[in-house]
Amino acid sequence: MDRHRDLATYTWDTVKHDILRWKESEPLPPPGGRWILFLGTGGNPVNLISQQSQTGGFLLKTDSLFMHVDPGPGALVHACRLGIDLGALDAVYVSHAHTDHSGDAGPVIEAMCRLMSKRKGAVIAPSSVFEEGIISRYHQGKIPSWGYSGGPERIIVSGGKAEMLGNAEIRFIRAYHGDDNFGFVVQDGELSIGYTSDTSYLLAYISSRGAVEVTPWDSMEDFRGVLRFREELKQAFSGIDVLVANVSYFGMFANRCLTAIGLAHMLKGSGIGRCIITHLDACCLRPRDIRAEMAAYVEDVSGVPTSFAEDNLLLDLGAMN
Ligand SMILES: [Zn+2]
Repeated sequence: MDRHRDLATYTWDTVKHDILRWKESEPLPPPGGRWILFLGTGGNPVNLISQQSQTGGFLLKTDSLFMHVDPGPGALVHACRLGIDLGALDAVYVSHAHTDHSGDAGPVIEAMCRLMSKRKGAVIAPSSVFEEGIISRYHQGKIPSWGYSGGPERIIVSGGKAEMLGNAEIRFIRAYHGDDNFGFVVQDGELSIGYTSDTSYLLAYISSRGAVEVTPWDSMEDFRGVLRFREELKQAFSGIDVLVANVSYFGMFANRCLTAIGLAHMLKGSGIGRCIITHLDACCLRPRDIRAEMAAYVEDVSGVPTSFAEDNLLLDLGAMN
């Protein structure tokens, strides 16, 4: 056969097939039930650039919501590798602008919007993330162009009143980490799931030398008890079924991170059903893997069942209530 015609015909047939597949066909539905899939469990700059743990955030699936939370670098790669079609997403949630939470937001939005051919889904982030172009105007669906006229159906600026996503309600919980930053509580039917995002919690503690204000380079070796903490956070998450807690360190950088020491205090007497630790700094894995010890510490101090997430862990929420 004529070589020119053969290659041209092959290209036309294949491109048509590929594009129609992604634009016109229904996305593969996510696995049924209620679950969290951790596409990453690592946080912070050292881990971000070394990828000792993945940084894809997590997928939350409840009865009426399928949402990608904090799609850092690798989010799309790991979802594809695990056979999850992000075209089925209802929402993409970015807690704050840092790269380990937002790096793959654009690609994930393109997947949710089926090659940017559909108007669908919600993108939720603080105003600065939209205004500073951390999520580009294109990915906000504001620059439609030939063949790519889709984008998110809703842009929700986090921090305002509670919003409905399908039958699920999302309430925003302010986080204290530097820039605009919000965690959340999602309530879908009887199931409630909280996410702390990156936040400070402890403000001052008691040591053998007296009261100590938290500072970045204090490892809190001499910690004897909590003196001051962010009461609003403890209150906001009280009574929920599952809390996903971004615990970067055991005790350091409490000025901007939720430490294991802080989490134990937050959970104690909170009525939270279960806690899972994620977003760990590389120091929690190497040279010594202290994740299990950290979770055990939190559980022992707080009395709340606590575990740590591993990359690609599927946590079944159905069995929890
Ligand atoms: Zn951060």
